[in-house]
Amino acid sequence: MFDPAIQGHLAIRQRLWERVQSVRLSGSLLFTGPDGIGKRRVALELAQRELCFRRSACGHCEGCKPFKAEPLPVELPNLLRIAPEGKAGLIRIGAIREDDLVEGGVIRWAHQASLSGTHRWILVEDAHRLNGASANMLLKTLEEPPPGTHFLLVTHRAEAMLQTIRSRCERIPLKALDSEEAWRVALAAGWGAEDQERWTSLSAGTLRYLDPADFALAVARVEAWLALSAGASFAAAAQPLLPEKNSTLAQSEQMAQSLELLLRILGDAGRLRSGRKPGLWSWREGLEGLARSALDFKRPVEAIHEAQRHLVRNPFAESLLREIALALRG
Ligand SMILES: [Zn+2]
Repeated sequence: MFDPAIQGHLAIRQRLWERVQSVRLSGSLLFTGPDGIGKRRVALELAQRELCFRRSACGHCEGCKPFKAEPLPVELPNLLRIAPEGKAGLIRIGAIREDDLVEGGVIRWAHQASLSGTHRWILVEDAHRLNGASANMLLKTLEEPPPGTHFLLVTHRAEAMLQTIRSRCERIPLKALDSEEAWRVALAAGWGAEDQERWTSLSAGTLRYLDPADFALAVARVEAWLALSAGASFAAAAQPLLPEKNSTLAQSEQMAQSLELLLRILGDAGRLRSGRKPGLWSWREGLEGLARSALDFKRPVEAIHEAQRHLVRNPFAESLLREIALALRG
């Protein structure tokens, strides 16, 4: 049985589990796909299922109990969790090599034998946040993990990872949920029917906007980009696009979200130009204005891709956004 709280991805979850059972699961897996579709939960479910005394992620046995803690501890019996930290939001080498995370460091942890005869699991959250040194430190272990040890790398930005890391992992691509699956989760989280259209349109099969504050911010960002593209001045419209100092997210992650929303807007305006339905249909009016303009979308799209490549180095956010806003003027 699968965890009913996790929506979607059933075929992949089934296949992964069959491979655990027939001892054919790769040692290094890279879960990719849009942000907020449950990749981490699918990866964790796989580990939990294998560590579960009933082999079902039952949620009640001694093997499952440690998975119930919120937030999940860094170290569980036979599971280690590596996640970005600090203002820059990076996975530092100290976490991999030294004793910051577990005694002896991650690589030694990976080589210890499991006491209970189960596998050992290492979850790497936001794997694109491995800095160069920590990524290089992991290469050899990812290439050939000790028998019975599995690395589960999770990322929504595989393109930002070192090619050397990607090539050592088997890729498990997950797709967005369908909007009914996503909306079922939203309903359970307390969203009401009056928000369904805007929520499903913005969420696009992800669960990124379950938190009303995240939703409100993304709406403000969509509207800011539409205002800028319609000719509003940067000073008047761009405020929601700038990173917030008090946010729990790293500046580069906030910027990445702003840029991604603009890519969606431009993609939708392009769709309208060729007579197709936009994903952000709740903002159809603004999108139609952009679709009717003479703007060649190639230039802003190139400016966004260029900016995305530099985000990890935390460039000056405002000047970067100004440049993109300029490209929106054609
Ligand atoms: Zn269990």
